[in-house]
Amino acid sequence: MTNEALHLHAVGAEPLVVAADVRKRFGSVEVLKGISLQVAKGEVLSIIGPSGSGKSTFLRCINQLERLDGGAIFVGGELIGYRRVGDKLHELVDAEIARQRRSIGMVFQRFNLFPHLTVTENITEGPVQVLRERPGEARDHAHALLERVGLGEKRDAYPSELSGGQQQRVAIARALAMRPKLILFDEPTSALDPELVGEVLTVMRDLAASGMTMIVVTHELGFARDVCQRVAFMDRGQIVEIGEPRHVLGQPTQKRTQEFISMVR
Ligand code: ADP
Ligand code: MG
Repeated sequence: MTNEALHLHAVGAEPLVVAADVRKRFGSVEVLKGISLQVAKGEVLSIIGPSGSGKSTFLRCINQLERLDGGAIFVGGELIGYRRVGDKLHELVDAEIARQRRSIGMVFQRFNLFPHLTVTENITEGPVQVLRERPGEARDHAHALLERVGLGEKRDAYPSELSGGQQQRVAIARALAMRPKLILFDEPTSALDPELVGEVLTVMRDLAASGMTMIVVTHELGFARDVCQRVAFMDRGQIVEIGEPRHVLGQPTQKRTQEFISMVR
């Protein structure tokens, strides 16, 4: 059995995400040089690695903000970006891409809330416009999600009235409102003042405990160690090392991983 198969066997779940030899180039520069990994349902995988190693690009490929130049990604058994007709693959049209993307939440470094909408309106926008939920139902769900991220009393506030940590928690509630099967986090705490990082990590920790499948690009090695089932170390477009945090973070076998970890610590 391969390591991946062993891992899946250990967690006893079918993979929700399968990336196979994913390649991406910008001009003549190949920034993803064959990324292969699997994420089980309910698993939290963190991706660490130096700036420019391709972490964001990989997340953007999963969410179809970038197109692959090679390889394939499956989410929930569906091939991302393509439809199979007989034995041929057809590229999806925009509406089909939008449908696939709906099941994947994304939380960025910058929260990108709409400044002219209240916190509740920011959260209900997607469910009402895209999922066609009834406004009252979407509002109730938004309020419940705000309670869940500890912001029940801020439901009528505007983003400018909130701290960065509070805005990021709203962004997480907004992602959850779309009832995603998977949430991608791209350095969700990197833009925050240090004293606000903890409250966002706490919400992410609760989310992980609730069984959400998450891929988290982060420099917070403590979070990776305590919350994630596995950590992948990426460098120069490749996964150098992947495994349990106690191995990858505690006793990395690769020199590049060792150097990176001693630098971040
Ligand atoms: P990371 O998130 O690990 O810091 P990125 O995925 O953002 O890395 O970037 C990987 C490499 O791809 C970098 O060298 C970056 O400059 C390059 N890159 C990312 N996006 C683009 C783009 N749209 N056009 C050209 N180069 C890009
Ligand atoms: Mg990045």
